[in-house]
This record gives sequence, C-alpha cells and structure tokens, in this order.
Amino acid sequence: MSDCIFCKIIDGDIPSTKVYEDDKIYVFKDIYPKAPVHLLMIPKRHITSLAEVTADDADLMGYMLTKVPQIALQVGCEKGFRTIINTGADGGQEVYHIHIHILGGGGPLPF
Ligand code: 5GP
Ligand code: ZN
Repeated sequence: MSDCIFCKIIDGDIPSTKVYEDDKIYVFKDIYPKAPVHLLMIPKRHITSLAEVTADDADLMGYMLTKVPQIALQVGCEKGFRTIINTGADGGQEVYHIHIHILGGGGPLPF
C-alpha cells in the first residue's frame, strides 16, 4: 500500500530501528516507546487490521505469534512481556497496517 507508513518502513523509504527481519515479518522499535522495550512486529504483506484478518492469513498470524516470544527473549524480556494489538477506531489503532506491540524490559509494567 503506497500510502501506508509501515509499508514504507518495510521498503526502507521511512527509516526505522530494525530488531529482526525475515521473509515474512519486520520488527522495529516504536518511535514513542512506552516501556524500555517497545517493539512493533508487522507482516511484510499489508493487512489493515485484526478486524480484516481472514482464514488466508492464519498461517502468517500463527507465525507471528511464534516469533514474539523468541524476539522478546532476545531483547531481555525473559521475565515476561505484554503484547497488544489495537484494532479499529475504538481500539485505539493509529496505523492501519496490523502490528503487534511487544512491551517490557523494565520490571513489572506500571500500566
Ligand atoms: P497503534 O496505536 O496503531 O496501535 O500504534 C501505532 C504505533 O506506531 C504507535 O505506538 C506509534 O508510536 C508508532 N509509530 C507511528 N509512526 C511511527 C514511525 O514512523 N516509526 C516508528 N518506529 N513508530 C511509529
Ligand atoms: Zn502497510
């Protein structure tokens, strides 16, 4: 999607701090971190939100969830972390390319 900022991040047209990348997903630091570790995991294939996910996306969604704990461990969240998927206007979604927030790294989260 040409007007999607996360697609532009995947393409390198908008700079980001990459933490992990493979053929299916890209993981980078949130620009406004709300915890010592605040990462965003996105699929390289544009999917607008969790509300738009279909059965065709099941393998990719499952793959993302299996990668979350591996990456969280790599960045120091061995005692736990929080995952958030904001969905739609009432869910507080600001960027309409599905993403998983991974938060932690500073002891128990205060929120
Ligand atoms: P949402 O509210 O859609 O769940 O979360 C979007 C997240 O993307 C926010 O936490 C926001 O800080 C982050 N974000 C928005 N624009 C950029 C950007 O250009 N670069 C990075 N690294 N993060 C961004
Ligand atoms: Zn996109």
